[in-house]
Amino acid sequence: MKDLNTKQLKNIFHLIQSIPGYLRILDLMGFSEEYLDFITKLADEELEQIKKIEDHYNKEIKPQELKSLKEFREEIGGDDMRMIYLKGREENIESDISGADRHNKEMTEKFYNPKENLSWLRLAIMSLWRVQEKIKQLKKIKGELYYLEHKDEVKEGQITDEMIQRAKKFPFEQLVEIKKGFIPCPFHNEATASFYIKNNFGYCFGCHASTDTIGYIMQTQGLTFIEAVKRLQ
Ligand SMILES: [Zn+2]
Repeated sequence: MKDLNTKQLKNIFHLIQSIPGYLRILDLMGFSEEYLDFITKLADEELEQIKKIEDHYNKEIKPQELKSLKEFREEIGGDDMRMIYLKGREENIESDISGADRHNKEMTEKFYNPKENLSWLRLAIMSLWRVQEKIKQLKKIKGELYYLEHKDEVKEGQITDEMIQRAKKFPFEQLVEIKKGFIPCPFHNEATASFYIKNNFGYCFGCHASTDTIGYIMQTQGLTFIEAVKRLQ
């Protein structure tokens, strides 16, 4: 409880104050009334500080950023810039996921250590949620990158955007046997399957590679993007 931030504590105390006999409840939780006042004041001060920083950002920094972004955009064309941006995001998210994955392993070790307190549980849940959220973001980015990288072929009429969408929705389980959510990683050799499939998108907890069905058969069957899209109709 004491590792919650002041704003969260303030909210909790606020809730407790509406219960009759709340002072006794506070007491049982190991907090005094003075501490409650202290936290409330601290949380208000923090909020004020945050507001000041946000104001400063909006007035001073944001206009500068927007200006340089505009200049950058004018320098490099629309789609090219989008691809640079997406690739940067892709890299960041992949490294975030591998960080969270390491974190999960530490949490699991703590779970088996009787000397550790229960704050690991909260952290573990947060970390797991983060990984799933990030994998979702990664899926979107990869999809858009595919499209941008192959938009010339789409333009030339070899494949259509609808075909790409259909190929991405082709069920993974029709391509490979999935055991408890996992398949062997197509990007590295392994004895234990660590390529996790969720919402028809895979992520490897071993080598941190990720892909959808199109990338999967490109990798496993040595197909080009166009061939893979056509195969998955
Ligand atoms: Zn792998």
